[in-house]
Amino acid sequence: MRLVVPLSLVCLLAHHAHSASLIQCLSGIQDGSKVIVPSDPVYPKASLGQDYRFTYKPAAIFIPTKEKHIQTAVICANANNVTIAPRSGGHSYEGYSQGGKNGALLVDLYKLDSVSVDKNARTAVVGTGNLLAPLYYKLWTAGKYAFPGGTCPTVGVGGLTLHGGYGLLGRKYGVAADQVLEITMVSAKGDTLVANKNQSSDLFWALRGAGSFGIITSFKIALQTVPNPDVVTSFTYDWPASQHSAVLAAYNTWGPKATNDVTTELNWDSAGSLELQGLYLGPKSNLNGILKGFMDAVGSKPSASDVRQQSLIDALLRFTWMDTTNPADMLHPVAQDAKYMKGNSLLYSAPFSGQTIQIMNKYLSSVPSGSTGAYIIVDLWGGQVNNVPISETAFIHRNELFGIEIVVEWGNMNAPPGKPDCPACLTWINNFYGDLATQYRKEYKINTVPAYQNYIDKGLPNWQQAYYGAAYDRLKQVKRQYDPSNRFQFPQSIPLN
Ligand SMILES: Cc1cc2nc3c(=O)[nH]c(=O)nc-3n(C[C@H](O)[C@H](O)[C@H](O)COP(=O)(O)OP(=O)(O)OC[C@H]3O[C@@H](n4cnc5c(N)ncnc54)[C@H](O)[C@@H]3O)c2cc1C
Repeated sequence: MRLVVPLSLVCLLAHHAHSASLIQCLSGIQDGSKVIVPSDPVYPKASLGQDYRFTYKPAAIFIPTKEKHIQTAVICANANNVTIAPRSGGHSYEGYSQGGKNGALLVDLYKLDSVSVDKNARTAVVGTGNLLAPLYYKLWTAGKYAFPGGTCPTVGVGGLTLHGGYGLLGRKYGVAADQVLEITMVSAKGDTLVANKNQSSDLFWALRGAGSFGIITSFKIALQTVPNPDVVTSFTYDWPASQHSAVLAAYNTWGPKATNDVTTELNWDSAGSLELQGLYLGPKSNLNGILKGFMDAVGSKPSASDVRQQSLIDALLRFTWMDTTNPADMLHPVAQDAKYMKGNSLLYSAPFSGQTIQIMNKYLSSVPSGSTGAYIIVDLWGGQVNNVPISETAFIHRNELFGIEIVVEWGNMNAPPGKPDCPACLTWINNFYGDLATQYRKEYKINTVPAYQNYIDKGLPNWQQAYYGAAYDRLKQVKRQYDPSNRFQFPQSIPLN
């Protein structure tokens, strides 16, 4: 009798054989490294990222402590034809540091968290296992240095910097990727490459805007010092959301002309609040003058405000929203963020039209049922970000004035992974984005709406152009050169063709 084995079973058996052989190969590395296998009790937690929507099952989780561990891990993955997902802080919006699918090798870099400062050169070599808050604190204690990353304390420097990286020092110093002088990467061959302006310069260009070429182990960054690190001003001003027309109109006219010493974001919440948050790199006594054009244009007094002259590290701590006033606690950050969320973005190179503001109001006035939070963040871009020539990096958003991020959250902090679902939330955000994008295309007379790749969205139409524009073809060339077998991939990684 002929035994008929279903194809799916053949695939499954082959998959298990690969996994077993991969795990055996990784387990041989030892030397302080660690392998977590699916049967390990810590595996479910270790495989999760920040967003509990994604419960992809990696073939194994590898935790290196040295670069040579990563080199061997890549060789193990090659030998077993398994794709690799590097993880820095695990904050991908689409679970891409789990590979965005089952069966990848997750390389969790959290132990590569050294920061080595060279005061004479005013540079630091930063391991990609660093999260933002610990990095800010380490640079501050080394000499009151600054790095313009994002505000969330538990975002990883790896993912953030590879894809841009925008925060409250952005208008003064540009995006995080603009600070990078040199990048060390374990390549798809398992060797270590150093990329800078003079060597592997095409790779250096690509890695400042896009990932998926290898595993970055460290960035050498230029260190910034704000004009007076002990005297900056952090601020919030609130209005009821009913004032949105006046506040947005004022933001439109004041923002693009504002000094680069100030960076702001406007948070408009479906719960009815509208808050301007910002950081000014100078004393409180100057702030009224800096914001005068904005306040005059709004016309009505804020319903609340909280303006603090403080040191830079206290200001950065404030906007992490961690429940502490001790900057040393930044070494052990705790995320306050929802465990279930979806976000997406649009980038604007001109002021918002009345129609765009109406669309915002329409959606923010109708909370999706089941959500625990729905809001937009309107970042003021421009400043130094736009002083960098577009051809210099694969981060091509050099002509934008505002970035909008739409966010919807659901489930509570204790919700189990993969469980809560909120179809109404997803419909809400997709429709909100869709209406804004339709209006955008009409006004800008272009088909593709630019978007920020750190707010990666699997459903984004024509994401290749939206994130990378004219850089996309060159990125594919770099991919073919450095990762010809597409070892580093996720659903929106740079493809070979
Ligand atoms: C709550 C929250 C707040 C945020 N706030 C901001 C903000 O203020 N400003 C801002 O600009 N962005 C912000 N972001 C977006 C954030 O920058 C991106 O999600 C970023 O990619 C996350 O980086 P990560 O290292 O934490 O994530 P990961 O999930 O670890 O990585 C994200 C992607 O980068 C790849 N990657 C990570 N490390 C490496 C590495 N060492 N080598 C190669 N590839 C790597 C991963 O494989 C994955 O594809 C926020 C996100 C969240 C969830």
